[in-house]
Amino acid sequence: MKRYSVFALAREAARHHAGWERAWRSPAPKDAYEVIIVGAGGHGLATAYYLAKNHGIRNVAVLEKGWLGGGNTGRNTTIIRSNYLQDSSAAIFEKSRALYETLSQQLNYNIMFSPRGVMMLAQTEHELRAWKRTAHANRLAGIASEMVSPRRVKDIVGIINIDGPRYPVLGGLWQARGGTARHDAVAWGYARAASDLGVDIIQQCAVTGVDRDATGVTGVQTSKGAIRCKKLCVVVAGSSGVLAEMAGFRLPVESVALQALVSEPIKPVLDCVVMANTVHGYMSQSDKGELVIGGGADGYNNYTQRGSFQHIEETVRALIETFPLISRLKMLRQWGGIVDMTGDRSPIIGTTPVPGVFINCGWGTGGFKAIPGSGWATAEMLADGAPRALAAPFSLDRFTEGRMIDESVAAAVAH
Ligand SMILES: Cc1cc2nc3c(=O)[nH]c(=O)nc-3n(C[C@H](O)[C@H](O)[C@H](O)COP(=O)(O)OP(=O)(O)OC[C@H]3O[C@@H](n4cnc5c(N)ncnc54)[C@H](O)[C@@H]3O)c2cc1C
Repeated sequence: MKRYSVFALAREAARHHAGWERAWRSPAPKDAYEVIIVGAGGHGLATAYYLAKNHGIRNVAVLEKGWLGGGNTGRNTTIIRSNYLQDSSAAIFEKSRALYETLSQQLNYNIMFSPRGVMMLAQTEHELRAWKRTAHANRLAGIASEMVSPRRVKDIVGIINIDGPRYPVLGGLWQARGGTARHDAVAWGYARAASDLGVDIIQQCAVTGVDRDATGVTGVQTSKGAIRCKKLCVVVAGSSGVLAEMAGFRLPVESVALQALVSEPIKPVLDCVVMANTVHGYMSQSDKGELVIGGGADGYNNYTQRGSFQHIEETVRALIETFPLISRLKMLRQWGGIVDMTGDRSPIIGTTPVPGVFINCGWGTGGFKAIPGSGWATAEMLADGAPRALAAPFSLDRFTEGRMIDESVAAAVAH
């Protein structure tokens, strides 16, 4: 793989960009692999990359029914933060946030990580208490996040109205090194680096069945034929229940649509991410000037990857009191993705009842920020056959053992 650099850019500019090679290979599937990963979203691709890079396991295929990064990874609002409440969540999300800091250099791909800061507003007494508790927990976990006063919220988020009649701002939980990254670039960067290490990424290849014998998994049926494998890792977000059914087990996961929208582009007005969880909405401003706006998940299970008018109305109406400026903006586009929600709003990373089948799912509304850490931890699990410390608390059996990792406050609207 040729390295991207300022010199490469200058060289290609001089020859009309005729010399760029394809970012990743598009091989035909082999008959068998050591590891098959289903789903070329960020989590699947990061897992493949770290398997090859950290563990030297390169006989790996990533199978994707559409195009890579076309699922939630390419549909999310790109918020990155690690200020979760529980120790095990803080550990994996902070590992992830820390990896994001140098990911562009690691992958030799500009993922546009922008640590512009994330402000989570407290607009009720209850929320204020919850964020104070989280700030204390974060301090104990070694995560840099702090409570700030309404005045400081106003200093950081200039366009905010902190004196709203229904929901005045009572404070904020501020993580200065949280921020955003370019979602497609994260998928493309991992894909390019994994492909370079020998991983086969096979697009337009839907998994339609899971083959097993008395000892466990033996391979998969796909739209491109049968492929054998020793280990199978299912990383398909909103389709996790469907794949689990193919393998013969059930997951405690519900699939719902989560929507987002962008406004027309305007001059820079917002240089951090701001979340108003009480009213169900959050915003940041893209480099193009559009306000990127998201809200809550649909209240009913569905597999609909598109937006609805009712959602625009609800989300924008909710945000107008706190951000009056948006009442004057035209909304340009909206879209949806299918997110996989667990009861405790924490992910599942672990072994399954079928020997050789591993699962990574349940990231719900907040898994973009977790891509590097999750890929790192899932690769460790696939290499060893069992999860190490980072992933171990998120095993599937926590639901039968009653060992929940409750992040319903930290992860509900606050992606
Ligand atoms: C509107 C919206 C806003 C969000 N905002 C944020 C945010 O601000 N911050 C944040 O951290 N998270 C956010 N998220 C959540 C985040 O996008 C997801 O948690 C994350 O992208 C999940 O990544 P993934 O790799 O697990 O899944 P995906 O990116 O969905 O990838 C799964 C892949 O599996 C493929 N697949 C499915 N079935 C099959 C099959 N049978 N065979 C082969 N391939 C298959 C799909 O085509 C898909 O490409 C948001 C999500 C949405 C929808």
